[in-house]
Amino acid sequence: MAEKRDYYEVLGLGKDASEDEIKKSYRKLARQYHPDVNKAEDAEEKFKEVKEAYDVLSDDQKRAAYDRFGHVDPNQGFGGGAGGADFGGFGDIFDMFFGGGGGRRDPNAPQRGNDLQYTMTIEFKEAVFGKETDIQIPRTESCDTCHGNGAKPGTHPETCGVCHGSGQQEVVQNTPFGRIVNRRACTNCSGTGKVIKERCTNCHGSGKVKKQRKIHVKIPAGVDEGAQIRLSGEGEAGLRGGPAGDLYIVIRVKSHEFFERDGDDIYCEYPLTFAQAALGDEIEIPTLTEKVKLKIPAGTQTGTYFRLKGKGVPRLRGYGQGDQHVKVTVVTPTKLTDEQKDLLREFSGLQGETPQEHHESIFDRMKKAFRGE
Ligand SMILES: [Zn+2]
Ligand SMILES: [Zn+2]
Repeated sequence: MAEKRDYYEVLGLGKDASEDEIKKSYRKLARQYHPDVNKAEDAEEKFKEVKEAYDVLSDDQKRAAYDRFGHVDPNQGFGGGAGGADFGGFGDIFDMFFGGGGGRRDPNAPQRGNDLQYTMTIEFKEAVFGKETDIQIPRTESCDTCHGNGAKPGTHPETCGVCHGSGQQEVVQNTPFGRIVNRRACTNCSGTGKVIKERCTNCHGSGKVKKQRKIHVKIPAGVDEGAQIRLSGEGEAGLRGGPAGDLYIVIRVKSHEFFERDGDDIYCEYPLTFAQAALGDEIEIPTLTEKVKLKIPAGTQTGTYFRLKGKGVPRLRGYGQGDQHVKVTVVTPTKLTDEQKDLLREFSGLQGETPQEHHESIFDRMKKAFRGE
């Protein structure tokens, strides 16, 4: 076990720090290092250190023992763990900042609802132009019958008689350092601080019900595969007046038979006959919205790209649209009539140059490159 830092040093305080200063410093540091917020590798370690320091210094008895004896080997039976601190996970960051309770879970604190995720598969063109639709999602909502408190209408949850609403029970232990008081969740009310005598029949006392909820979703034009749309407050219901979680819609886009997409640009291939490529032509190219005319210049090589400006995908953020790129492929005929074959032979004889001769300069350059010239 590494040498422990002084608890006061951890919180950046002097030995004479007031209760208020301890609480303030803890809140500031916990916020800084909470693993939900801070993704640094040592954040979790730091957070634990801060919490441990706080758990001891915020408790009069533990603080007095710490002031006298310093750090205590946890194996010597100082409460349940180092300094008797309770490391039951990190808790919800929302609890910590709004729940008060000085770092301990306040059983009556509002708790934010869980986030939900929904995967939606849409057509290629729907991603390009956007879509509005309704979806059905199962989610937990606050019970209408009891307004979320779990008690039968006309009755109310009562304060727990065992813990008097704190949700915690004190357990006294005798140790070599004197009496140490530890707290644990109240067994009578499971730490909620309230008991329900007559349960709401609709939600059986949980205050929550599962519902199929219809939600209207607007998918903006230009979304792409993997995009996430956040619908604030459309997740699961919060507890004790806490806000609902969020709903995340994850977009999956089906592929298109003719178009491919790369960001805001659209790509497609278009076949040309040898005659079209050699003599030039004007062809009609389908775009996402309409057919447009494209001029193919005489002598076009296979694999050449043509750009149709502004015929791509609307930009999700900002103005304008991407482009459509058309790659032309010259298709070699496979079924020729005898007459066509004769004409081609005649053409070939008249042509006077071979493709090799035509590309001689390229081959020359390659040869030179290999010779290192
Ligand atoms: Zn209910
Ligand atoms: Zn209780």
